[in-house]
Order: sequence, then structure tokens, then C-alpha cells
Amino acid sequence: MARYIGPVCRLCRREGIKLFLKGERCFKPSCGIEKRNFPPGQHGHDRRAKIVGYGLQLREKQKVKRIYGILENQFRSYFERAVRQKGVTGENLLAQLERRLDNVLVRLGFATTHAQARQFVRHGHVVVNGKKVNIPSYQVSVGEEIGVKEKMKKNVQVVSALELVGGRGTPHWMELNSENVTGKIVSLPKREDINMPIQERMIVELYSK
Ligand code: SF4
Repeated sequence: MARYIGPVCRLCRREGIKLFLKGERCFKPSCGIEKRNFPPGQHGHDRRAKIVGYGLQLREKQKVKRIYGILENQFRSYFERAVRQKGVTGENLLAQLERRLDNVLVRLGFATTHAQARQFVRHGHVVVNGKKVNIPSYQVSVGEEIGVKEKMKKNVQVVSALELVGGRGTPHWMELNSENVTGKIVSLPKREDINMPIQERMIVELYSK
């Protein structure tokens, strides 16, 4: 699956908020938003156009895609699946994104960013119910046990990611066993469990035009 490989701080500056795409480095003064909180590009500094209507909806969609590290085609297919599901479309969409294997690794604290989590999965370091799964978009079901291969349990990146999540806490729809480096989803994520600044209603409006 294709992925964005350009500079990531640009993405935060475009959206005007911290998207935390660089893990620990996002908390340092060198953060792109802390240093240059204006849109990227030659005229970004002197042009901050007021965004309304369609522009707002578009920015909201782009922001969510960037938070989860997903490109347009895959994002649209999540939306189409969300429409077919029972319940509120926007919430169905977010629940699918939250249950992606790469996102679950980040929420459990086995990786600090979605890019790092995706790399762990792609390189075959991640197991679901004891079996290797190398598809970052794999939808984790309630009760499935997520872990890493034995040799990765002492990996410096995994250990420091777990230390970071130790201070942050695990979402209450998940259960973490940090000693074993395993975790599971104990219930499906509800809207109130997702505390990122997302207005999914705007994305639904955008795709419904
Ligand atoms: Fe975004 Fe700042 Fe992290 Fe760069 S360092 S990805 S600007 S939050």
C-alpha cells in the first residue's frame, strides 16, 4: 500500500495543529509548529486565508488522513464501508481507523508513531493471537491478542514507546500487559473514547456532496 514519504512537519503546519507524527520529538521545542506556526510554502507566512464551507470540510478530511497515515483511496473505502454499517457514519469511520493494527500498536504504546508501527508490522515483528500479521490495515477484533515477536520485546524503540505510554495511560477500551508486551481490545471504541480534535461530521458532509 502506498504511503506518504515527504516531510511530516509540513503536514502539521498545513493543518495548523500538532498531529504528533514524530513521536517524542513532537514534545521538543524544535517542533515545526512551535517554531513556524504558519502554512508551508513560499507565501505561507503572509497568506492565511480564511477557510469556510468546502475548504473546512476538505481540511478536516486531510487532517484525519494524516493523523492515521492513510491515503485517499483507502480512506474513501473506509468511508464507504462506514456508510454500509449500522449506526452513525462518522463514528463508524473513526472506529474502523482506531481498529487498524498500526493504530492499535500506537494506542497500546508498542510504537510512538503510525509510521513506526507500520514498519514493525511490515517487517513481520507483530503477532495477532500468536500468528504473524504483516498488514498494517488489519482490523483488530475484540479479544484478539496483539504482541510482538520475542526478539522485539527488548527492542529499544519498543521499550521507549512503552515508557512513553506509561505516563500517558492506555485507552479504557484496551488492556495492556506491559511486562509481556501484549495487549488486546476489550470493547469497540466509542466516539467519546477518541479524544483527538476531529469533526467527523464534516467528512461525511464532504463525501456526501
Ligand atoms: Fe507535527 Fe511538531 Fe511533531 Fe513535526 S514535531 S510532526 S510539527 S507535532
